[in-house]
Amino acid sequence: MAVKETGVSYYGLSYVEHAERDFKEMIDHHCTAVILALSEFDVDFWLPNIKVVAKRAKDMGLNVYLDTWGVGKWFGGEPTSLFLTQNPGNRQVSAFTDEPLPAACFNTPAFRNYYFEMCQKLAEVEADGFFWDEPHYALPKAYASITGGAGDDWTCRCPHCQKMFEAQYGYPMPRQLTMEVKRFRQDQALDILETATKKIRAIRPSSKMTCCVHATLGTYYVTENRGYDNWDKVGKSSACDVFSTTILSYSLPRSFFRSVTQRTIDTAKKYGKGNQRWLMGYYQEPEKLDEVSEVAKLYSEMGVESLFAWTYRGGYGTVLAAPHALELWDAIGRAYGEVLER
Ligand SMILES: [Zn+2]
Repeated sequence: MAVKETGVSYYGLSYVEHAERDFKEMIDHHCTAVILALSEFDVDFWLPNIKVVAKRAKDMGLNVYLDTWGVGKWFGGEPTSLFLTQNPGNRQVSAFTDEPLPAACFNTPAFRNYYFEMCQKLAEVEADGFFWDEPHYALPKAYASITGGAGDDWTCRCPHCQKMFEAQYGYPMPRQLTMEVKRFRQDQALDILETATKKIRAIRPSSKMTCCVHATLGTYYVTENRGYDNWDKVGKSSACDVFSTTILSYSLPRSFFRSVTQRTIDTAKKYGKGNQRWLMGYYQEPEKLDEVSEVAKLYSEMGVESLFAWTYRGGYGTVLAAPHALELWDAIGRAYGEVLER
């Protein structure tokens, strides 16, 4: 089997003539697709040029996906949130301490309407679809683990979530993460994406939705309860045309790469969806850069259809650059060349 789509994320875009050179470099690195990572500020301020940049990428033959990157701190990513700056309320609230957290509660009408308006603006951009980038409830705990590890505290138990829970279940929302609370959180977490999908498709019916969730163990014993941990529910959702799981550290055993990838492919297949896996292309690199090719080949042999790396040029010039960012970027380009279906 061979990979059908290879891509990279791209941020900080502003001028089409500059983006064009970068797109050419992506194509030289055997990329067939680009994810435009758009912060709230980008969408608010640069919308005219986002349209021009996306169109140029399309004209150059790339598939283009729009990533509402870090929005509300509901999606993964480093950008700051305009919504949080402009709204003192509508925050996720810790179940144990009642403290508001620096993350928007995506169940509040204020945030939902803000997000839907943003999606409707972006639906005007000539792109192939949207990339739901690691959506999650805030994790009010002092540690985070890429492979799991349950925290006790959870979100969101804001007044709005409490009211909705009680209306649905007929009793006050517990502070314990009960079965009902888990189900409520999961249902709400998908509802906003499904509603956004409907609104986007009303404007651009062909829009393809890639839902990228954390590549956690998600087993009987260990789950992070981010709200998108039930892969069956996510895979089945109308907000998911392509089921995708995130980046793994190269220092994790290859058996973990295999198991996450197999579960990703199985989930996608079960619900008739496309599949996507990711390569780490920033911050960390393998001891030997050629290991990138080994991982890409493993994915390809297992049946991965879409393969992406975060991010363009290995994060070169950012605090999250890989130690040898440009060499890592070249290694990703070589790996893509080896696995891409011609
Ligand atoms: Zn809430």
